[in-house]
Amino acid sequence: PLVLGIESTCDETGVALVRGRELLVDVTASSMDEHARFGGIVPEVASRAHLEAFGPTLDAALDRAGVALGDVDAVAVAAGPGLVGSLTVGAAAAKALALALDRPLYGVNHVVGHVAVDELVHGPFPDRFVGLVVSGGHSSLLRVGDIATDVTELGQTLDDAAGEAFDKVGRLLGLPYPGGPHVDRLAQQGDPGAIPFPRGLSSGRDKDRYAYDFSFSGLKTAVARYVESCQDRGLDVPAADVAASFSEAVNDVLTRKALAACTANDCETLVIGGGFSANSRLRELAAQRAAEHGITVRIPPIRYCTDNGAMIAALGSAVARAALPPSTLDITVDSGMPLTQVLAA
Ligand code: ATP
Ligand code: MG
Ligand code: FE
Repeated sequence: PLVLGIESTCDETGVALVRGRELLVDVTASSMDEHARFGGIVPEVASRAHLEAFGPTLDAALDRAGVALGDVDAVAVAAGPGLVGSLTVGAAAAKALALALDRPLYGVNHVVGHVAVDELVHGPFPDRFVGLVVSGGHSSLLRVGDIATDVTELGQTLDDAAGEAFDKVGRLLGLPYPGGPHVDRLAQQGDPGAIPFPRGLSSGRDKDRYAYDFSFSGLKTAVARYVESCQDRGLDVPAADVAASFSEAVNDVLTRKALAACTANDCETLVIGGGFSANSRLRELAAQRAAEHGITVRIPPIRYCTDNGAMIAALGSAVARAALPPSTLDITVDSGMPLTQVLAA
């Protein structure tokens, strides 16, 4: 079946068409330029931007794929987690389309979508695998059997997400918002071993009790202290070394725990997704350590790591394949949709 996927959880309006595991088209519009000067997403601005962008984005997708709206067999939309106002615009559009076309509606989980999209790139998933979702709002380890029906959460961040920590450190270093990509670029010019920043939940009793959980707020505080101590002493902040050492601390923990989860769950494959998986050091370290463990690591190309419609269409397609009953037309959106809920009932 031909699945139309709609993404509107945050600042990206995404529309994509997927048939089975084949991506026909993926079009994204972003309102990030409008938020950048505020140093964060302004929810009302984002909602309004979705309303403005949805029609043209849908038109462009259909046009580029050479598909008529009537050819669509199912409509998938991100039902959460995300900003309520943003989610509502996509959900309302999806319901209207499903009703007008008389096709099934699938309200799917955005975060699970960050993993599901990899099937469009690297083919069918194995029987079981570990998923690491790292983004602006999440850092979670999942154990996945069937992506549509069997997702369990092994652990998650207890405070900041990886992308959020990078954005905060970007601000500390005076870099533009969102800081993640800027900190990544700066880190490539620094020494990752220059400053021994802490590895959260990685030693003593925490190491066992929080084996698959993350904590990045202590690290962020350590970076802030370090920057302040340089300023107090009238020294230049070695920004590249700070960025590199910070990035190393985040990615060391992410990759070590992800591979430990693979071993403990007898999984030979690790799939990484979410906006933060654009990070260059994460990609490097994951590849290196996975090779050492004899584990296959799958990470989609960067354009499918940040928010997009393809991830939603991919998960909608998986849900349709699993023949799950569609969502009803009265589903609501859920800003805190749990990762174990793949489909809104
Ligand atoms: P969620 O998916 O949890 O709802 P989100 O949709 O806001 O959150 P994404 O769009 O998936 O998050 O990812 C955006 C985050 O990824 C931002 O915090 C951004 O700074 C970060 N990011 C993007 N590229 C990089 C990079 N190269 N290095 C570090 N962080 C990055
Ligand atoms: Mg975004
Ligand atoms: Fe996302």
